[in-house]
Amino acid sequence: MNPITESCRPSRELGRALFRQLSLYEAAAESCRVDLSDNTNLWGAPPSARTVFENAETWMLSRYPAPYSRELNGALAAYLGVDPEMIVSGCGSDDILDSAIRAFAEPGDLLAHLDPTFGMIRVFSTVNGISTIGVSRTDSSPADALVSSGARLIYLCSPNNPTGEVLDPLLIETVVASASGLVIVDEAYAEFAGASSVGLLARYDNLLITRTLSKAFGLAGLRIGYAAGAPRIVAEVEKSRGPYKVSSIGEQAAMAALARDREWVNEKVGAVLANRDLFRRRLGDLGLAPLDSGANFLLVPVADARRTRERLAASGVAVRAFENLAEIGDALRITIGPWPMMEECLAALETAIQ
Ligand code: PMP
Repeated sequence: MNPITESCRPSRELGRALFRQLSLYEAAAESCRVDLSDNTNLWGAPPSARTVFENAETWMLSRYPAPYSRELNGALAAYLGVDPEMIVSGCGSDDILDSAIRAFAEPGDLLAHLDPTFGMIRVFSTVNGISTIGVSRTDSSPADALVSSGARLIYLCSPNNPTGEVLDPLLIETVVASASGLVIVDEAYAEFAGASSVGLLARYDNLLITRTLSKAFGLAGLRIGYAAGAPRIVAEVEKSRGPYKVSSIGEQAAMAALARDREWVNEKVGAVLANRDLFRRRLGDLGLAPLDSGANFLLVPVADARRTRERLAASGVAVRAFENLAEIGDALRITIGPWPMMEECLAALETAIQ
C-alpha cells in the first residue's frame, strides 16, 4: 500500500458521524438579475457605514480587533435601551445562535421550536449534538406543547422566517415564564414589525433575544449580529463564541450606522412596508394568497415550488423555494425590495405559475 496515495483518499470516515447528514449551505441566488432570495436590504448599504470603509485606517486592517467589541456593544445597548453588559455581538446572528445553543445545551439535549422556522436552527443544533423537535403553529396550545416537550432550549422567531408571522406576545411571555431552560427569541426582522420582546428582559433572566444588522440596516456583508440577555447569560454566550469575531472595520462601520444612519434605515423600512402591501395586492390579482407578514418578505404558497423557482430563475428572478412546509405545503419566499424589482418578479411569476 502506498502511504502517500492512502493519505490522499477522501477522509469522510475521519469526520464526526453526525456531520455526515449535513451538507454545505446553498444560497438560492444563482446569478440572477433580480435577487429576492435572501431578505437583505435591497436598497443597498447605509451611507455612514460606507464612509468608514472609504476612509479605513491601517490599524483597522493590521491589528487584531477588540476581542469582544465592547464599544460596539455599548452602541447596540443604547439602540435597544438596555445595559451594555446585557449585549453580546458576533459574526452575524448565526454566530450568536450557534454559540448560544452550544453554551446552553449538552450534547444529547433537545431544542424545541415552532414548525416551520429558520432552517439554520436545525443545522446549529445538529453540529452541537442537539436534537430538535418541531411543534405545530396551529397546535391548540403551542406554548404548552413547547414547554412540555422536555426541551432544554426553546427557540422562537418573530417575525418568523419563512412564514413572516409575528408571534403573539402572550405566547412568547408564557413560554419564557414557564420554561425551565433558556428561551431564544430571534428578532432578525424586528425593525420591520415594530414589535419586540426586549421589554421582557427586565423581568426574565432565562431569555436571549438575537438581532442582526444584516436586514433593515443593510449590512449583511459586514456579518454583525448581536443578542441581549441577562449579563450571566450573555457571558456564557461570549465564552462559547470566543474572541475576535467582529472585525475592527466592521465594528467601526456598524457604530457609524447606529449613530448616523437611523433615518436611512427608517426610510427603507417604510418603503418595504409600502411595497409589501402593494405586492400582496398584485399577487392577489394573480390568484396567489401570501401569508400575513411582519417582515421584509412574503411567503407565497404555490403548487410546485421547485418548478416555479426554476422558471423564475430562467427569467432572471431569484426567490427561495420551500417544499412541503408543515401545514402550508410548497411555497416561495420573496424578499420585498424597490418597486421595479417587484414589478419584474410579478411579470415573471405570471408566466411561471401557468
Ligand atoms: N435569524 C433569522 C430568522 C434569519 O432569517 C437570518 C438570516 N437568514 C439569521 C438569523 C442570520 O442572519 P445573520 O447571520 O446575517 O445575522
